[in-house]
Amino acid sequence: MNLSTDHLAVRTTCAYCGVGCGVQATPLADGTVAIAGDKQHPANKGRLCVKGSALGETVGLEGRLLYPQVREADGLRRVSWEDALDKVATDWRAIIDEHGPDAVALYVSGQLLTEDYYVANKLMKGYIGSANIDTNSRLCMSSAVAGYKRAFGEDLVPVCYDDLELADMVVLVGSNTAWCHPILFQRILKAKEARPEMKLVVIDPRRTATCELADLHLPVKAGTDVWLFNGLLSYLSRIGAVDPGFIEQHTNGFDKALATADVDCSDPAVVAKICRIELPVLLEFYELFAATRKTITAYSMGVNQSSAGTDKANAIINCHLIGGRIGQPGMGPFSITGQPNAMGGREVGGLANMLAAHMDLERAEHRDVVQTFWDSPVMADKGGLKAVDLFKAIEDGKVKSVWIIATNPVVSLPDADQARRALDKCELVISSDIMQNTDTTAYADVLLPALGWGEKDGTVTNSERRISRQRAFLSAPGEALPDWKILSLFAQRMGYSGFDFCGQHGVFDEHARLSGFRNAVGDVSRAFDMSGLAGLKQREYDDLEPIQWPVRRDAGGKLAVEERLFGDNIYAHADGKARFIATAPRAPLHAVSEDYPLSLNTGRVRDQWHTMTRTGKSATLADHIAESFIDMHPQDALLSGVKEGELARITSEWGAMVARVQHGGGIPRGSVFVPIHWNGQSASDARVGAVVNPVVDPVSGEPEFKHTPVRVEQFRVNWHGFILSRDEVNLERIAHWTRIQGRAFARYELAGRNTIQDYTGWARELLGVEDPDADWLEYEDRTAGVYRAVHVVDDRIAQCIFLSPRQDMPSRAWLASLFAKDLLSEADRVGLLVGMPVEKGADTGPTVCSCFGVGRNTICNAIVEKDLKTVPEVTACLKAGGNCGSCVPEIKKILVQTRVEAAEARL
Ligand code: SF4
Repeated sequence: MNLSTDHLAVRTTCAYCGVGCGVQATPLADGTVAIAGDKQHPANKGRLCVKGSALGETVGLEGRLLYPQVREADGLRRVSWEDALDKVATDWRAIIDEHGPDAVALYVSGQLLTEDYYVANKLMKGYIGSANIDTNSRLCMSSAVAGYKRAFGEDLVPVCYDDLELADMVVLVGSNTAWCHPILFQRILKAKEARPEMKLVVIDPRRTATCELADLHLPVKAGTDVWLFNGLLSYLSRIGAVDPGFIEQHTNGFDKALATADVDCSDPAVVAKICRIELPVLLEFYELFAATRKTITAYSMGVNQSSAGTDKANAIINCHLIGGRIGQPGMGPFSITGQPNAMGGREVGGLANMLAAHMDLERAEHRDVVQTFWDSPVMADKGGLKAVDLFKAIEDGKVKSVWIIATNPVVSLPDADQARRALDKCELVISSDIMQNTDTTAYADVLLPALGWGEKDGTVTNSERRISRQRAFLSAPGEALPDWKILSLFAQRMGYSGFDFCGQHGVFDEHARLSGFRNAVGDVSRAFDMSGLAGLKQREYDDLEPIQWPVRRDAGGKLAVEERLFGDNIYAHADGKARFIATAPRAPLHAVSEDYPLSLNTGRVRDQWHTMTRTGKSATLADHIAESFIDMHPQDALLSGVKEGELARITSEWGAMVARVQHGGGIPRGSVFVPIHWNGQSASDARVGAVVNPVVDPVSGEPEFKHTPVRVEQFRVNWHGFILSRDEVNLERIAHWTRIQGRAFARYELAGRNTIQDYTGWARELLGVEDPDADWLEYEDRTAGVYRAVHVVDDRIAQCIFLSPRQDMPSRAWLASLFAKDLLSEADRVGLLVGMPVEKGADTGPTVCSCFGVGRNTICNAIVEKDLKTVPEVTACLKAGGNCGSCVPEIKKILVQTRVEAAEARL
C-alpha cells in the first residue's frame, strides 16, 4: 500500500451511500488505515455504519489496475498513457467523422467526484456535440429527479437531514433505511427515543430490518404505491385536510390531479384490496398522515426503480402539496439518493437528458448560457441515450464506441446478458477503472487506471445538497490518474480548448462560476446556485467545510446558505408555482404468468455495496451475509419444489442465476428477493441483473428493478462443500461456487454435479497439495458421502475442505477462527476430524454485529445465560449494536426468538 508521508488524520467523505458521512482517515506506519467518523461533519456527527467503518480494509492494491493497457490479438499489453490516449482519440475522431457524434458515448457513475463528472459532461455535450453521456445513477434515482422537475420546475430536494429529526412523523417508502442509509436511520431512531410520540411508518412489500422499529408497517404489493398515495390524496381532500390558500396561490394542476386520483382510488377499501393490505392498517396510515402536519415522506429505490417511478414520486409530492406541507422545518418529500455523488452528477448534468448547472437541453436559452460560458464549438441540442437504450444502441451497432468510467454495467444493468452481448459486439470499449478484473473490464479494448477512494481529491454532494470534500490521504498507485485528468488529456488530444485545468480546484471553480452565470431573476434564473463558492483560493478549497447549496454571497461578501427550500413558496417553474401532477395508476408492464409466477424484487444487503469490487475485499463486511440468496415465502418454496438452504435457479424471460433459498426476510407470498451485489468474480452464476427485465419508466428511463416475473426451480447437485484456504483455489470445474474474503484466507462455498470416486486425490488436486508427505488429516465415510480433510503447514491450518451430500456441515465461523491461530491445539485437531468444535463457546455462529465481530450463537447464549431482556442489555454485555447500530433490528429479532424458545423449552 502506498502511503502519504505524514501520518495525520485526513478529513474526507465516505465512498458509499448518499448519506455522505464525514470520515477521518489516518494512514498508519504499519501500512493500514485507521478509520473514524468525523465528529464535525453535520451528516453523521462522528458516527459511521459498518461499511464506512471498514473503508480501511478496501484500500489495498490487490487486484488494482495500475497501468494503461491496450488489447491485442494475444491479450492486453501495457502501454504508455500517451499511446493509450492517442489510440482513443484517433479512433473516436475516425468514428465521429464517419458516423457523427452520436456514434460514441460515455457511461459514467455516481461514484465519480463532481469534478470528474463536470469534465465528462462538458467534453461530451459541448465539444463532441452529443448528449450520449449517461450514468449508473439512471438506475437508482432518475425517477426522483424527474418527479422533482415536474413538480418544482427544477431538480430540487426541498428538505435537509435535520428535518428528519424535527418531524412528528417520518414515512419511509420503498426504503430499507436501516441497511441502506444506516446513519440516517440512526438519526431518526435517536429523535424517536427523545420524543417517543414521534411516529415511524414504513411502506415496503418486505418486512425489512427497518420495519422492526416502526410503529406501523404497510406491506403493500410491489408496484401499487401510486394507488396508495392517490388514495391518500383523495382521502385528505374528502376530510378537508387541505390548505386551500396554499393550493390557490402557490400551485397549479390540483383539480386534475385530484380528479385522476378519485377515478380509481377514492374508496379506501378498493385501495386496500389493490395494495393487498388490511383496510384498518391503510386507514390508520391515512389518519396519521392527515393529523400530522410535520411529516417527512422519504423514499428511495422502492419508489424510483419502477416503470411508474416518476408517477410514484409525484403521487407522494401531491400529498405534501395538498396541505402545504413543504418549505417549513420537519416536513416535505425527500428522495434519499443511493450513491455518494448521485447529487453531484445531477448538478453538472451527468444524465443524458440534462444540461450542466440544472439547465435543460431542450431550452435554447439554457443551451446558449452554457455554450457561451464554455465558449465551446458545439452544443448538443437533444437528449442522448439513457442507460438501457444506450446498451441497445451499442448492440445494434448505432453506437460504435463506449467509454465506461467507474461502473460495472455487465453486473448492474437490467438484462445484464444483453450488456455483455453489446460490449462483445462494440468496436471499441474503453474502461477507466480502479480494478483490473471485473465483469466489464473483461470486454475492454483499452483499460485506463483511475484513482480510487483515498487517492482522489475533489467534492461530492449528499442527499441533502451538502457539498463535502473528499481528500486524498494515499499517493497515486502505479500510473493511475484522476478521472477528470484522464478526460482532460483526451480532450486536449482531440484538439479541444477549455480543458487546461490547473487541478481539481480549477474544475470546481469553473463549475461554481457556471452555476451563477446569468443566473438572475429576469435572465435564465435557476435555484441551483453555488456561486458563493466561486473564486475560492486553493487553500480555501482544500479547507472547505461541508456546505449546502444554494450558497451565494450576500452584499457584504458573507456566504448565505439555504438549508431547506421553498420557505418563500416560490418554485422554479416560470410562474413560480409548484405543480400537482395527475398520476393515473398503472401496473408493471410484465405481469406474472403460469410460466413465471413470482415477482422478483432486488436490492442491497446491509454490509455490501454495489457490485462488490471494493466491499468484497473486506473480511469484516463478508461476515454478515456470505452468499447470494433467494428469499422466498415457505409456501412458494414448497410450490416451487425448493427447500431452505438448498441452491435454486431463478429464471426470467431474460436470463437466469443460481443462489441459495432462504426464508425469514419478511417476503410476502408471490414475491422473491435477491440481492444485487454478487458478480462473476465472486460467484459462478449469481448476477441477478441477468434476470431483471429491461422495462423502464417512460419519463425517467429508470429500470424496473423491483418487479420481474420469474420462476424458481431446483438446482440439482450431488454434493455440497466448502473450502477455507490461505491460497487461491481454481474452481473452473465446479458446478457452483461463491468466493468469500476471510481474514488471511478465502472461503469457497461449493456444490458439484460430478461423482467423486477418489476423495483424497480429488481434494489434493483441487487444493494443489502435491507433496505426498504433507501434513494431511482426513476423515472419509464413503457410504454417507462425507469427507473432511485438513492441510496443516508448520502446525497452522493452511487449507481445509468439507464435502457432504447434505447441507449440515461444520460452522464456518468456528473454522475461520482456527486460521487466526499460530498453532493448532490437540482439541482443534480433534474438532477438525469430527467436524465440530470440542470446546464450549468455540462456535460463535454467523456474524450479527460486524463492527465488533459478535456472532449469533454468542448473543443467544448470553440472552439465555444472563437473562438479557433488551437490546441495550445485550449491548452492555457484548458491545453488539453499540457502534453503528445497523444490527440493532437483528438483535431485537434474536432477542424475541431466543426468549420465546427458552420459555417453550422450560414448559
Ligand atoms: S451511512 Fe454508512 S455507507 Fe452511508 S455514507 Fe455513512 S458511513 Fe458511508
